[in-house]
Amino acid sequence: MLDIAKIRADFPILEKQVHKKTLAYLDNGATTLKPNQVVSAVEKHYKEECSNIHRGIHWLSERATESYEATRGKVKELINADSTDNIVFTSGTTAGVNLVVQSYGRNKLNAGDEVIISAMEHHANIVPWQMLRDEKGIVIKVVPVFEDGSLDMEAYYSLISDKTKFISIMYVSNVLGTINPMQEICDKANELGIPVLVDAAQAIAHMPVDVQELNCTFMVFSAHKMYGPTGVGVLYGKTEYLEAMPPVTGGGDMILSVSFDKTVYNVAPYKFEAGTPNIAGVIALGAAIDYIQSFDWKEVEEREEELIEYAHEQLQEIPGLKIIGTAKNKSGAVSFTMKDIHPHDIGTIVDRSGVAIRTGHHCAQPLMESFGIVATARASFAIYNTKEEVDQLVKALKKVQEIFA
Ligand code: PMP
Repeated sequence: MLDIAKIRADFPILEKQVHKKTLAYLDNGATTLKPNQVVSAVEKHYKEECSNIHRGIHWLSERATESYEATRGKVKELINADSTDNIVFTSGTTAGVNLVVQSYGRNKLNAGDEVIISAMEHHANIVPWQMLRDEKGIVIKVVPVFEDGSLDMEAYYSLISDKTKFISIMYVSNVLGTINPMQEICDKANELGIPVLVDAAQAIAHMPVDVQELNCTFMVFSAHKMYGPTGVGVLYGKTEYLEAMPPVTGGGDMILSVSFDKTVYNVAPYKFEAGTPNIAGVIALGAAIDYIQSFDWKEVEEREEELIEYAHEQLQEIPGLKIIGTAKNKSGAVSFTMKDIHPHDIGTIVDRSGVAIRTGHHCAQPLMESFGIVATARASFAIYNTKEEVDQLVKALKKVQEIFA
């Protein structure tokens, strides 16, 4: 059994009073809070190991390099990659998608080639492809979303043709919470030899993720959505792809030798990590992975499912409140609107009750458009959240209604 009181004690910020009310942090889809273990890892690096990596032969640099590279091993274990060579550190999910688009996409895709994304994608998995479209004339095809927030898989199958040269789809929607049938998506892509990128930003802290089982070509996620620090992310790539892909950022640390005539690049993953990286951040990601791995996935999933179900039940009781995305298979987030009340007003008023939620388009404007809305209010959950916090949200939402009655 998860010891929630013990878990909550790892996150001292949860004791904070906001507007003289106990904080209910329900904005984990934006970023999760960080446990003491992660904060301490950052502090430890700067206090005890502060040094640059891969370059120095001195003691401190060796320690920092070891700690940094140890995280690569932890990521490998977490997502069951074949080798640490498949793990590229980036600054986040956005940077990971851009790297793939600018390296693989720019070099392998040509005018008329089709890329399949979905209507629920985050802007991070739309805009980079549009930039490539404007440059190279690729065509973006979009898998639509049903009214319940699930992907139209028949449309997915029918959109695939011999022109399809890449598939890039999110595992879990940051807005709807929908868990997409990623295995099925990858299976079809693999059957046809089409590379597939999985945006696992909203999956990685909520469910076990196995890149070998999925057999995806690429996977991207951010440390800050999995109890880790901001400014760090991961790009997983299959060996044959990473080896063949050119780097997109040149500079120190990504080379084997440089002369004015010729530069020889380092091997993957190092050729994609130019310049001094976020060393403390990567080390702290290691601490975040240790933290996640200290729990039983089954218990984490069961608890979050219970919380989501409870949130659905309670929110549905509020007259005029509409949940956006009611698909069965959900994780992490519940989006909703309230008749005639702008989500920003909802967010501002519940904040006065200490409840932190996100409002707006959640970097998914095309998804909003497909639901005929401009914004939602979203409560999103993490391992430390409780039913009491859901109650606090519900109470605050009733206050919103009173104000607008
Ligand atoms: N994809 C999804 C599904 C996300 O939820 C987010 C963050 N909201 C991103 C991509 C972008 O992540 P980051 O801002 O950390 O690069």
